[in-house]
Amino acid sequence: MVATIGVLALQGGYSAHARVLHRLGAVVVEVRVPADLQGLDGLIIPGGESTTMTIGVEREGLAQPLRALAQAGLPMFGSCAGMIMLDRQHLGVMDIAVQRNAFGRQINSFEADLELGPDGELDGLAEGTLRAVFIRAPWIAEHGPGVEVLASVDGHPVAARQGHVLAVAFHSELVDDDRLHRLFLGWARSYARAGGASAGGNGGLARSSASQP
Ligand code: GLN
Repeated sequence: MVATIGVLALQGGYSAHARVLHRLGAVVVEVRVPADLQGLDGLIIPGGESTTMTIGVEREGLAQPLRALAQAGLPMFGSCAGMIMLDRQHLGVMDIAVQRNAFGRQINSFEADLELGPDGELDGLAEGTLRAVFIRAPWIAEHGPGVEVLASVDGHPVAARQGHVLAVAFHSELVDDDRLHRLFLGWARSYARAGGASAGGNGGLARSSASQP
């Protein structure tokens, strides 16, 4: 089954996500206005500049439809600024408070090998560390009980999941390792198989009981 994935394309690194998705056989829709959200099986919010992205989301009237789709169970994946967009202060799709530019000036950008998941393994992700590129990256300063922390750097959560929503502080679209995008495409296919938005509810994700925001 071919999944149709929207990539929020108002600003930032959307084309890198689109390239990975194309390579993995997904249909990609660049999302700029609410009409672009129709028929999606998943949505990615890329890195970039969260203040600019927020202005664009407000201007285009995208905030409400995005929240409604998250409530309806549409799988969402935010990276870096995308993680900021998902937090309580922005779209409120995840029960997390994100601190911007959290790693400070002296290490604006760095790379790290992360173990993902409670046992270094996350769903279908094969074992082994994931190379992560951090660029003026945020971290999760606070999160509610429904949020599962998947990876941390120096004790600060940098990857988390809440049901069908995945957020990472780094740029998984800039490395060859596409396991996170594969994982996300798996969620999107489950959502599509369960009838997508028209079915309402959680789209049939295996572990979606892990609370709605
Ligand atoms: N520092 C940016 C922000 O606060 C995020 C950086 C990124 O997406 N690479 O929006």
